[in-house]
Amino acid sequence: MTNHLIDQIRARLGSPEKTFIETPAGTALSYGDVFARSAQIANALVGLGVKPGDRVAVQVEKSPEALMLYLGTVRAGAVFLPLNTAYTAAEIAYFVGDAEPRVLIADPANMLALGEIATRVGATLETLDAAGKGSLMSRADVASSQFADVERGPDDLAAILYTSGTTGRSKGAMLSHENLASNARTLVDYWRFTPDDVLLHALPIFHTHGLFVATNVTLMAGGSMLFLPKFDLAEMLRLLPRATAMMGVPTFYTRLLGSKDFTRELVSHMRLFISGSAPLSAEVHKEFEARTGHAILERYGMTETNMNTSNPYEGDRRPGTVGFPLPGVDLRIADPDSGAVLAKGSVGVIEVKGPNVFKGYWRMPEKTAEEFRADGYFITGDMGMIDDRGYVSIVGRSKDLIITGGFNVYPAEVEALIDEIPGVAENAVIGVPHSDFGEGVVAVVAAKPGAKLDAAAIQVPLAGKLAKFKQPKVVHVVDHLPRNTMGKIQKNVLRDIYKDTFS
Ligand code: ATP
Ligand code: MG
Repeated sequence: MTNHLIDQIRARLGSPEKTFIETPAGTALSYGDVFARSAQIANALVGLGVKPGDRVAVQVEKSPEALMLYLGTVRAGAVFLPLNTAYTAAEIAYFVGDAEPRVLIADPANMLALGEIATRVGATLETLDAAGKGSLMSRADVASSQFADVERGPDDLAAILYTSGTTGRSKGAMLSHENLASNARTLVDYWRFTPDDVLLHALPIFHTHGLFVATNVTLMAGGSMLFLPKFDLAEMLRLLPRATAMMGVPTFYTRLLGSKDFTRELVSHMRLFISGSAPLSAEVHKEFEARTGHAILERYGMTETNMNTSNPYEGDRRPGTVGFPLPGVDLRIADPDSGAVLAKGSVGVIEVKGPNVFKGYWRMPEKTAEEFRADGYFITGDMGMIDDRGYVSIVGRSKDLIITGGFNVYPAEVEALIDEIPGVAENAVIGVPHSDFGEGVVAVVAAKPGAKLDAAAIQVPLAGKLAKFKQPKVVHVVDHLPRNTMGKIQKNVLRDIYKDTFS
């Protein structure tokens, strides 16, 4: 039987004794264990009535068993559907109602709240806790460690992943076996992953970054992972000396830089630091390089497309850019309204096409149709440009674009200049209703510990650098900016908080 994604992982398998995953709590799984364990889970799922194409919805804490559940689901021919652990029962009710899974696997602590939700859609509820125990694993423990992978082709679905909900309600992105496999193959080559790599993994695994980029790349390279339940600064500092590579969201990097123990010596042996999921400020990039000698490699992707662009492995990793389109990915900049393709250097919406691009939004055919051009390009909703050396940079999401007095303001341009002002830890530039201008530019700025900032400290240095219409009319100084679990700044929350700034 052929199971497109699993076969490719198998084809690259080295020795079954080789370690795949290790946790600080002392769990270690070899590649042989990975296949035996995921076979047991696949058998347990089939025993629960899971058929090819069925959804297996999962809201559990991060554990090696949760990853084995991902692989077991795919081997059983089903569709893996992970859900953010922060979601409340009411939110889960929406996702479960939308996805209609055959099985819902949850933390035992949520049994009561989720039982009724599962019953409503006819799903079986099973448990899996942070220690990798629960009713699902009790079934798996007594199941065979042999499993004939269910036949699945390149276009069959492997997963439905809900987007982060940064700009509105999360949408379920349907990802095929080849969407995942092609991107993992490309990234292994592009980032030079080998069996010698040990990836320090502190990301959540309900999201593309931690689940597919980190895990599939490690599996396809035959490497190993040090698997932390979550980002913990002390644990990161303790384990970095054993790692060769790390993948993180920008906040990981600022938190590492915040520690005096994060030194050049500590990471002198490291091969690669990768950042994504949200913009990495050029300031943090430079500070990191000055401290460690490593240039962080920033890349750009999204739930719907996996990874689209990356700074180069060899060559200039340019701060404030997301690098080049990956091999096999066609990327263009278009006029958001007309769809006309724009020349190099112009700002427009980023559109992509390639084997990485998803099959559409689950049960949202109209939304899917709206987000694709007639020639098959997916409209990402991110605004960006390509410079004359071919580097792509992102200037903000189209939903965050500010139009003030008829002029466009791209938040990233203003944010980058505010980041350079001494004492600024982070900032977000938003547009809020303004009676004269339509929208007025507002900056929300968080100070570094101990630094004193006021509106003048921000506005004065910008005055000489930016056209008047781009300069924030009002600056709000705050302790920190609201972020979601992926470390993304929630501009919709900020727009709501400051909506009356000009009224
Ligand atoms: P939703 O689509 O539900 O509003 P979301 O877009 O945040 O949420 P994800 O798919 O997790 O959900 O995130 C993809 C988005 O993250 C991209 O469209 C882009 O805006 C942003 N992003 C990812 N990597 C980078 C990066 N390196 N620089 C800037 N933005 C990035
Ligand atoms: Mg999105």
